[in-house]
Amino acid sequence: MTDNKQQQKHQQRQQQLKQEVDQAIANATIDKGLVVVITGNGKGKSTSGFGTVARAVGHDLRASVVQFIKGSWSCGERNLLSQHGVDFYVMATGFTWETQNKAQDTEAAQDAWQAAKTMLADPSIDVVLLDEITYMISYHYIDIDEVMTAIEQRPSHQHVLITGRNCHRRLIDYADTVSQVQSVKHAFDNGIKAQQGIDW
Ligand code: ATP
Ligand code: MG
Repeated sequence: MTDNKQQQKHQQRQQQLKQEVDQAIANATIDKGLVVVITGNGKGKSTSGFGTVARAVGHDLRASVVQFIKGSWSCGERNLLSQHGVDFYVMATGFTWETQNKAQDTEAAQDAWQAAKTMLADPSIDVVLLDEITYMISYHYIDIDEVMTAIEQRPSHQHVLITGRNCHRRLIDYADTVSQVQSVKHAFDNGIKAQQGIDW
């Protein structure tokens, strides 16, 4: 094929692609608050949630965060975003995998859930991040029916971001956007410890 013919073919393909993309954009006319779920075993769920909060704050939107698992360390995104008007509720006991006291964890999860419910009922909040809430649901510390009701009844413009592994099927079914982060490899598996600024 001559260079000229190749160029013509390329142009035709690009033209076709542009038409398809333009059509898809023209078809997307609905404006609404989204439910976005970031789940799976790979790294990047919470960073995606906080990245979206940063994106919203950059547009002067109001965002609030509930962290359902408090790491034993400080958290870079909280340090930064709380300086930019983002309200944080951090679950009191610092639920970890070593958790031993079910009654205490349930109470802490319930307190965090009350804070989340208040956010989900507040029309002045544009974006709510429920970081690691999936574990509270799979441990039955928070009732899935209650979560669904609060999300379904939230202000119609409000976006909700949900992160954590093993997201409940009902949340996945209800969500507008769901991403499953797959782990290909992780530094930790090679004995590398969590790094400040990357992992927390
Ligand atoms: P991140 O906060 O980095 O986006 P995440 O929210 O996707 O991670 P979590 O399950 O909440 O993942 O884990 C939090 C911590 O565990 C982070 O320090 C993260 O780097 C680490 N981590 C995430 N995925 C893996 C993995 N597949 N193997 C080992 N450690 C992981
Ligand atoms: Mg996380």
